[in-house]
Amino acid sequence: MSIKIQPEAIASLRGFEMPERLGFGTVMAPVMFRARFQDGRWSDGELLPYGPLALDPAAKVLHYAQSCFEGLKAYRYGDEGIGLFRPERNAARMAHSAQRLCMPPVPESLFMDAVNVVVAHCAGLVPGNSGESLYVRPFLMGTQPDLSVTASRAYEFYVIASPSEAYHPGNMRLWVEREDSRAAVGGTGDAKVGGNYAASLQSISRLKARGYDQSLWLNPGNRHTVDELSGMNFFAVMDGALHTPALNGSILEGVTRESLLTLARDAGLEVHERAIDIDDLLQLVASGTCTEAFACGTAAIVSPISELGDGEQRYRLAQAPGPVAMQLRTALLDIQEGRAEDRFGWMHLVQVASL
Ligand SMILES: *Cc1c(COP(=O)(O)O)cnc(C)c1O
Repeated sequence: MSIKIQPEAIASLRGFEMPERLGFGTVMAPVMFRARFQDGRWSDGELLPYGPLALDPAAKVLHYAQSCFEGLKAYRYGDEGIGLFRPERNAARMAHSAQRLCMPPVPESLFMDAVNVVVAHCAGLVPGNSGESLYVRPFLMGTQPDLSVTASRAYEFYVIASPSEAYHPGNMRLWVEREDSRAAVGGTGDAKVGGNYAASLQSISRLKARGYDQSLWLNPGNRHTVDELSGMNFFAVMDGALHTPALNGSILEGVTRESLLTLARDAGLEVHERAIDIDDLLQLVASGTCTEAFACGTAAIVSPISELGDGEQRYRLAQAPGPVAMQLRTALLDIQEGRAEDRFGWMHLVQVASL
């Protein structure tokens, strides 16, 4: 497919000045990609200046939440330029999320072209310090303007990007959420949809009032095995072995999760993907068998967990950050930033566009 580069997009890139402080996901690159789906086919894509969207107030997405998104990062990659980390995994996951919500999957070639064109033009905006990156956010939504509860026939696919600092939530204290669920049995837990996040916000506001940082969600079917956090997957180290909940339909399959499992196995660690009972986990923390726990996702990569709270009880992890979390974080970042050989073929180099 051909992508039209609007001259206004180039002008906005030329006029862009990077602010001194970036934060995470708050500074937006001055361009965005858009393609439209209508009458059963995708339009050619366009690179436009970043700006507000014109949406009909009756657009389906605003009422029935027909939308899904992705998150991936472009890094300064050694001396070679800009590298994307496993973008084809995000393309596949977005297709899965779209299908779950009855939306037309964005074809892999369109997804890759869109991400590439944004990153190629924003190459000058990829910050250079270790841990910094251009965070790339593709999203898809149903735009047909009518209030009937049916799948939209019109869609828009966008890619925006945000030059970002390293996202360090610090040591996290997790609250075991025994009341709410972020996902349902047979629901959308394994799809990356905004509705899952909306469902998690009440829990987060309650736990913040108690001094915690994030919810630890239990499986909505049995309500006693661990699923994940609101936007990160969960790992624990027990007797030196790495454990993570097995995928079960309500867990979002993280690209970081899968990559850490590969790196851990490669480093000779014992790895278990299994159902982890919450009461067993808390006992193993209390007895010192579970020495560390951490969460992982594209934004923060690896975030140590220092404490699990369950009702009035607090369970402190012996090591936060622990050695396994740090070892895996370093191994992953070294590949992403080009200090280590890309032995698994994960990096996708982007040809920088001249402005
Ligand atoms: C995006 C997300 C993750 C992390 O996935 P990555 O591909 O590693 O960024 C984990 N859990 C949920 C619920 C998510 O939405």
